[in-house]
Amino acid sequence: MSLLTIKKLAVAYGAIRALHGIDLELNEGEIVSLLGANGAGKSTTLRAISRVIPAAAGEIEFAGRSLANIPAHQVVSLGIAQVPEGRGIFPSLTVLENLQLATWTCRSKARRGDSCDRIFKLFPRLAERQKQLAGTLSGGEQQMLAVARALMTNCRLMLLDEPSMGLSPLLVKEVFRILQEINEQGTAILLVEQNANMALKIAHRGYVLENGRIVLHGPAAQLAQDPRVKEAYLGKQ
Ligand code: ATP
Repeated sequence: MSLLTIKKLAVAYGAIRALHGIDLELNEGEIVSLLGANGAGKSTTLRAISRVIPAAAGEIEFAGRSLANIPAHQVVSLGIAQVPEGRGIFPSLTVLENLQLATWTCRSKARRGDSCDRIFKLFPRLAERQKQLAGTLSGGEQQMLAVARALMTNCRLMLLDEPSMGLSPLLVKEVFRILQEINEQGTAILLVEQNANMALKIAHRGYVLENGRIVLHGPAAQLAQDPRVKEAYLGKQ
């Protein structure tokens, strides 16, 4: 069943047109990867879904409901959580406080359900560091905290912007393993990644964005074999 449906979405920053009418579909329980070079419009797509920037044209539907008149601060209570590029955690609060804060911003009581227990099971590193100030965590741990915080909203859809950025290969593996686990527990994921190799490994389907247009889409395994994807995003193999 379709959870997120994007039709002919166009976004502009003043005179700069970042998206030229893209179509994208994400089904319940899926991981979908959005690939593309720098400036292709990946982050813009996520920002449009979370309503941080307005659409110039087109439609976004989540769970059968149009997001057209939903303000950004209400999007999370519908079940959409965003993990922004650069993480956006509160450095002077502890790990635990960062997690608790996530549920305060969420109006719906049903979505507040996720206890820290489940989170700490998924992220034992964070469990050990509950009282540590978030600003003193390593880059990888901060990334995990950002993902954990999104999970605290008990979201149906998680939007992730470059979760592997700046992480060591070992931590990238760990973050991706956790994403898979989160997905297996029922959360759909839209994943923006420069690390196309890893992104296509965990995704069910993928889309390739070039200059604000979707140029390819299909099952992840098929995309990983596509000569154009191999050449542009996977390095020649
Ligand atoms: P990256 O991988 O480098 O983060 P991206 O695919 O996420 O790239 P976007 O950040 O969505 O790309 O940017 C798409 C286009 O919109 C780019 O040409 C960018 O310069 C432009 N753009 C993004 N944000 C703004 C802004 N606030 N003001 C003006 N132009 C912007």
